[in-house]
Parts: sequence; C-alpha cells; structure tokens
Amino acid sequence: MTSPQNGTDITVRASAQRLDADDPLAWLLDEFVVADPNLIYLDGNSLGRLPKRTLARLAEVAEQEWGAGLIRSWHDWIGEPQRVGDLLGADLLGAAAGQVLVCDNTTTNLYKLAAAALDDVLARAADRRLVVTDRGNFPTDRYVLEGLAAQRGLRLRLLDLDPLAPITPAVLEPVLDDRLALLSLSLVDYRSAALADMAGIERAVAPTGAHLVWDLSHAVGAIPVELDAAGASLAVGCTYKYVNGGPGAPAFLYVRRDLQERLRQPIWGWFGQQAQFGMGDDYDPVPGIGQNATGTPPVLGVAAVAAGAGLLAEAGMAALRDKSVGLTELLVALHDAWLVDLGFELASPRDVAARGSHVSLAHPEAYRISQALIAAGVIPDFRGPDRLRLGVAPATTSYTQVWDAMDRLRSIVAGGAHLELSAARADVT
Ligand SMILES: *Cc1c(COP(=O)(O)O)cnc(C)c1O
Repeated sequence: MTSPQNGTDITVRASAQRLDADDPLAWLLDEFVVADPNLIYLDGNSLGRLPKRTLARLAEVAEQEWGAGLIRSWHDWIGEPQRVGDLLGADLLGAAAGQVLVCDNTTTNLYKLAAAALDDVLARAADRRLVVTDRGNFPTDRYVLEGLAAQRGLRLRLLDLDPLAPITPAVLEPVLDDRLALLSLSLVDYRSAALADMAGIERAVAPTGAHLVWDLSHAVGAIPVELDAAGASLAVGCTYKYVNGGPGAPAFLYVRRDLQERLRQPIWGWFGQQAQFGMGDDYDPVPGIGQNATGTPPVLGVAAVAAGAGLLAEAGMAALRDKSVGLTELLVALHDAWLVDLGFELASPRDVAARGSHVSLAHPEAYRISQALIAAGVIPDFRGPDRLRLGVAPATTSYTQVWDAMDRLRSIVAGGAHLELSAARADVT
C-alpha cells in the first residue's frame, strides 16, 4: 500500500511520522492546550481545541477590561463584533470589510437572514411559494426553514440528494424556477463532508430571482471560502468548530454589501439602532452590516473568536487546506488498507477535491465502535444511524495521530472489543 503523498508504505507508522516531520504547520500543534498528550481528538469539527493564546486573552479581557475597566470598556467592546467580522472576512471567508458581523448563534443568524431574504422576495413576487434545502442538511437549518415556511404559509421542499456527491447546479435543476423563493445549503455536508459548488450554484440561482443562504459551519477554517469571488449574497456559520472559538462562541453572518440596504432582518434590537444611546422612540437601523446586530454581544466569546481566527490567519487557509487534504487522504488510504474487510464503508467522497476536513465511515456497529474508541483514547463522534465521523482539524491533528487512531480502530473491530459494550445510547453523541 503506497500513499500518493510520498510513495512510501502508509501502513507503516514511520511514514506518518515522516509526514509530521515534513509538516510546515507542525508548529501550530504547540499553540493549543493539550491536557492529555495520549488523547487523540478527532472531533475538532464539533468543538475545536483551546488555543493557549485564548486563555491568555480571556484572562486579560476579564481582569483588565471587565475587572478594572468596568463599563468604560464598552467604548472598545462596542466595535468588536464588526472588527472581528472583518478579520474573519479577510482571513477565512474571502469577504471584503463591512460584510461580516460576529453575533448570536448560527441558528438565530440563519433565521435572521432567511427571514430577511423571504420578506424581500415575497415583496416582489408574492406567488413564490417554495423554500428548498436538502434532507441531509443540518437539523437546525431544516427546522428554521420549516418554521419560516409555516409562519408564512410557504412550502418547504426537502431534496433527496446523494450524500456522497457534491451539490451542483445540475442536481438543483428541478427547483430552479420562478416558484423558488429561498434556497439554503451547507457548503460542507456535516455528515459526509461533501462540498457544494458555491460559485456554480450562485450563478444558477441568480436568474431565478430567489435568494440563496449558505451555512458555512463545517467549512470555515477547514477549507478556503471565497464569498466575494463566488458571488455569494448571504451566509452564516459557527466559530466553535474549526475556528476554535470555544463552546457557545458567537457565530457570524455575511450580507453582501449591495444587499445591506434592501434586506431588513426581523429582530429589531437596540444594537442595530442609529445613535443607540439616544434611546430614541422608533427603530432606525444603522446603515451597513451593523443592522444585523440584535442585543448585547458576548464580549468574552467575541474575544475568543478573534484569538482563534488570528491563529488560523497566521497559518494561512491555503496551508491549512493542504494539511487537511493530506490528513483525510491518509485516513482514507488506511481505511482502504485495513477496514474494508471489517465491514466498513467510506461514507465521504473519495475525491479529495469534493471533500471537507472530516471523513465518515459507515458500519452497522458504529455506535458501539465509537464508544470503544473513546475507551481506547480516541474521540470521534457518532452520527446516527451508522456513521463514525472522524474530524481531522488541520490546525490540531498530526499525521501520526490519524495513523494511531486508525490502528486502534482496526484492533477494536478485528478483536471484537466493541461487542462487549452496551448498545444503549447516551443523550449527547
Ligand atoms: C454545527 C452546526 C450548526 C449549529 O448551530 P448552533 O446555532 O450553533 O447550535 C448549524 N448548522 C450547521 C451546518 C452546523 O454544522
């Protein structure tokens, strides 16, 4: 078994160690808190690791800005959601300044932008009745769209797409007409990691007059995103996954500049108001991206997003993508070498160009296998009914960790260790 990466036998551990020795991003691993050096963490796509600099920054914000500065610190804090939004835009999202805001969570931001988009479309064409997403989209996305459709008497259509194939204009063809009001898609499928063709889909949707909202939660920090170049108009996403902003870190939203005056998001809060501290009678939002703010931002969370994004910016998205490609290629090669005979099946695109930074493996015993892996010091996650999802965040995962995790996975299943565990499922998987 040879690897496309270096022509050596990848089933030998030393070849993974060699990849680490040659890794230009190896320095990044030391930038994160590693409480247990023996733990292999393959869940950075659900909750990223803690950067050391974030600890220092949070202590500084808490002690100096909050503890000493008290309310005087709002002078600086008030501009942070836009400033950090610009950082995300420049370094991770391919968006020029003034189009990205850090605020709320992804669910709320999707609601805000999808509602604004629907109001805009329906004001021009009240006969458009269709809201579309794919059945495999992340649950909160489907629920938000279901709720919006119900509130407006529209129909939500869930497309049954091949989860292993990239989403292209061709597969959306049946809904791209003048019945469509809103289409919402994830750029990277949360289960299979299949990538959607953002620029192609934007070009195909534009002539229909419908709006398109992207969810970038499993993409940002894992693959280079080029919102401006792709002609995207609306997007949302998480910062606690690959951006390493921490549990509950505020999300972001993107509204293309030329749409900012036209779209009006539905939560009219005082943080979007002109002369906010004038406490005026009527809502009169600021021009620009700031009108998408609602209430008081989580200042500590915003600071953690800035620290996490700054670290990725130093590494550079192109280098992070190269490493991610190397990691998922190694994982897939080891799957092919070791796991196929043990009942596994690759449940992610085989073509690396069509894949994000996690790999899903299907196995009928995936749940018990995931529990046995955790007991063996490897944290994957389980996504029902039969998926083991292995996230290989490029900033925090080494090639040797991928090799060791796959080796332990092989031993567990070959030896039947998982069969001794209960099949009863925990609440959080
Ligand atoms: C993780 C994730 C979310 C989570 O939304 P929250 O509001 O932060 O809970 C939403 N959408 C996608 C595609 C995700 O991967």
